[in-house]
Amino acid sequence: MASGEAAEWSLLEMVPNKLFINGRWEEAEERLTFDVKDPATGRVLSSIADASPADAIRALDAAVAAQDSWAATSPRVRSEILRRAFELVIRHTDELALLMTLEMGKPLAEAKGEVAYGAEFLRWFSEEAVRISGRYGVNPEGTGHMIVSEHPVGPCYFITPWNFPLAMATRKIAPALAAGCTVVIKPAELTPLTTLFLASILEQAGLPMGVVNVITTTRAAAISEPVIADPRLRKLSFTGSTPVGRRLLSQAADNVLRVSMELGGNAPFLVFEDADLDLAVEGAMLAKFRNIGQACTAANRFIVHQSVAKEFEHRVTERVQNMRVGRGTEKGVDIGPLIDQRAVSKAQALVADALGRGARVLTGGREVAGEGCFIEPTVVTDVPLGSSLLSEEIFGPILAISTFESEEEAVALANSTEFGLVSYVFTQDLARGHRMITQLETGMMGLNAGVVSNAAAPFGGVKQSGLGREGGVEGIHEFLTTKYTLVPVS
Ligand code: NAD
Repeated sequence: MASGEAAEWSLLEMVPNKLFINGRWEEAEERLTFDVKDPATGRVLSSIADASPADAIRALDAAVAAQDSWAATSPRVRSEILRRAFELVIRHTDELALLMTLEMGKPLAEAKGEVAYGAEFLRWFSEEAVRISGRYGVNPEGTGHMIVSEHPVGPCYFITPWNFPLAMATRKIAPALAAGCTVVIKPAELTPLTTLFLASILEQAGLPMGVVNVITTTRAAAISEPVIADPRLRKLSFTGSTPVGRRLLSQAADNVLRVSMELGGNAPFLVFEDADLDLAVEGAMLAKFRNIGQACTAANRFIVHQSVAKEFEHRVTERVQNMRVGRGTEKGVDIGPLIDQRAVSKAQALVADALGRGARVLTGGREVAGEGCFIEPTVVTDVPLGSSLLSEEIFGPILAISTFESEEEAVALANSTEFGLVSYVFTQDLARGHRMITQLETGMMGLNAGVVSNAAAPFGGVKQSGLGREGGVEGIHEFLTTKYTLVPVS
């Protein structure tokens, strides 16, 4: 056995394969298991517990039982546990990165980047835990003192996607713990191993039992419904697709549950005639091909001024032709596999639809023969309005270009989507940059930048990209509830 492969198997043996409920690693009640596979090879990495609805309720029981004592812990204690968790995640960078590459497919260097990013939420919220504060004031009539205090919202249920297995978990867990909330988390069935490993790290960091509980399952809807319907649950936070988010929102309505929704995107990437093209091309490569194009923040529509479109096309095509496709564990690989065969078929169908409407492929466009779910990184240009490539979230390494003539047209095109997560704008005109901040319907914007995410910044969207913010000083407020007390002046 090759030494790389031996290291992979010994890592996989270290990763728990059971449910984490009330500080214990437990089999699923029905003793069912499911396989987690490597999308690059199709081989089974691990066989893990497949939770039932009863398991999920047991996890909620544990979170509810732990809530009061966790909320009563001093902010400093919560902060120190989070800080230790940050340090342990960093110490386990190599293992966590390899695990993500194995179960999700991203190139190892990017997986290491995700460990650094994901760990930052633990550090940032360890610092925010000790800064939760309220207000005090006298009412306008002078008859009373008003105390406004912040309190943990209570037990939370988290549902996370497969594309950023570590960061999507820490971005929710860290602010919840900092605020004094307990958690049940259900990771995506395609990439549950990273969350299980993270739970073992939180355990090592000294987290009391029941504060974080992990349930892995193939029955996402069946186990989520009773948890969301349970009146003891106080908050639902979901990251995933808009259709599933919509469904969860309607379930959450019954108990008027607090919700955060981090949903899909369809990011415009505007290149104005005055853009620094070196910067724009660099930004395009990051915004499009990071995570094999499988990011909610991935640039979906490249909207380029017609006067610079040829040059932009030429430069990105040259860069894309030099990208290396392969297993994420191999050195120098830029593009790993897509998550599954369905994703490959979807990407190909989107390209075929655009070609049928008159678009042209400049490079790529084909599935890579052999094992695994690979597709060539692709550049498509002259993509006409009405193409599904422009209206749907691509979630693959396909860079779709169309052109505009005026700033008004660029803004109208950028806003012509039900999504509003992030927008990228490349211009050297400062006044235009400021106009875009006002005019683009977006929760986040990169002005001459191809990546915006940062633990210190509020991440989230407008329109059908979601509700609420994760990260930044805003992130902890999603897990706090405001109480007002009146004390009459005697
Ligand atoms: P998905 O909606 O299919 O699944 C997300 C999670 O929801 C998974 O854990 C899944 O098991 C669970 N789920 C699916 N159906 C469910 C149901 N009926 N009830 C309860 N849970 C259910 O999304 P995905 O394919 O895993 O992830 C890709 C999507 O996530 C993209 O649309 C992407 O834009 C979005 N995303 C958004 C952000 C953000 O911060 N806005 C970040 C990452 C991914």
